[in-house]
Order: sequence, then C-alpha cells, then structure tokens
Amino acid sequence: MGQVIAIDGPAGAGKSTIARNLAARLGYVYIDSGAMYRAVALSALRQGIDLTDEVRLEKLAHAAAIELQQDRRVCLDGEDITDAIREPAVTAAASKVAALPGVRAALVARQQQMAEHSNVVMEGRDIGTVVFPHARVKVYLDADPAERVRRRSGEQPDIAPESLAAHIAERDDRDRQRVQSPLVQAADAIYIDSTGLTALQVEEEILKLC
Ligand code: C5P
Repeated sequence: MGQVIAIDGPAGAGKSTIARNLAARLGYVYIDSGAMYRAVALSALRQGIDLTDEVRLEKLAHAAAIELQQDRRVCLDGEDITDAIREPAVTAAASKVAALPGVRAALVARQQQMAEHSNVVMEGRDIGTVVFPHARVKVYLDADPAERVRRRSGEQPDIAPESLAAHIAERDDRDRQRVQSPLVQAADAIYIDSTGLTALQVEEEILKLC
C-alpha cells in the first residue's frame, strides 16, 4: 500500500488544482475520484438509463473501463471523455449516481486498488472518511460559497453566475445529505479554508503535514 494524501471538500474549494500540484511536487499519482462518478453518469445519460435504477447503474460502474491519465485526460472504454464529463448535465447527474451505494462500492474498490502500489494524492468527497480512513494526510478543503462560485465562473464563463451558484448549492446539498458516504469532514482531517489564499499557500500548508 502506498502513501495517501486525501483531499475532500465541496465543489469549487480548489481541490483539483491543489491535489494536482501537490502530486507533481511530491512525485505522487494524482487521482480525481469525481471524474469516475462523472464517467458513470455520462455513460448512463448516453444509454438513457434512469438515474435511480441502481441495479443497472451498479453494473455499469463495474463494467465501465475508466482510465485516468496523468495529463488529466479521462477515457471511457477507450474514448476520450475529458470535455464531455464537464458538461453541466453530466455534473448534475454525477451527484445523483454518486448517491447510490452500489455505484459507490464499485468505484471505491477501484480507488483503493489505485493506491495499492503507488503513492497517491486523491481528491473527492469521501476519501478521508471511507476510501482511505488511514490516509497519512487528510485535508478538508473549504472556501466561502461566494468564492467557490467565483472560481467556477472563471472555468465556465458561459453560465450565468446566479445559475452556477444554484447548481453548486444543489449539488453540495445532495452530496452532504446522502445516506451513503456523505460529504463530511473526517474527525482527523485538517480543515483548510482556501478563501483568500493562493494555491501555493494552501500547498505549503499541506506539505507541512506530510
Ligand atoms: O469532484 P467533482 O465535482 O468532479 O465530483 C462530481 C460528483 O461526484 C460530486 O458532486 C459527488 O456527487 C461525486 N463524488 C463523490 N465522491 C467522490 C468524488 C465525487 O460522491 N469521492
């Protein structure tokens, strides 16, 4: 089992940037666990599977060949889906399929395998609580809601900020309220509020814990 740095938190808190940079600085493998839920959601939408049909979605989560490449490209059954999984409809669907225990069990098992022989920085919602409860470093990364919307607006300038704010709030609520592995700070995670901090400052805080 390799070393694990677990970074959890709500949408727009800066997890991806920080996790990617840390992995590069430490020579660890960067793993975006959210991309896996997004890949299952994309596949479900394309196949017209009802997003509450747990039996079919669980099968899909087991069968999907999801590849997370180190250049951040994501492939599903050999197809590059990097851009497709960032579409708003896929984002919303991802948090719906992520509420299903069968889907989570399939993806969590794969995430655990990814750290069997490698040191990893993994970001998500349940990495420090469920996937790697014994991670060497656990961080709960947060930021003010307005700041999180501002960051997402920079990435998605074609969507009105008010609409982005509503989507983020709805998704965070769903991620926090679900019964299975809700978004919650692990008891032994370090809380970092990234509002007003640069990525570099957050990285330095986390490196002090390593
Ligand atoms: O991190 P990202 O925003 O790409 O994740 C998309 C969705 O996947 C989240 O809203 C959440 O519902 C789900 N997710 C999860 N557990 C993780 C990572 C993501 O439930 N470890």
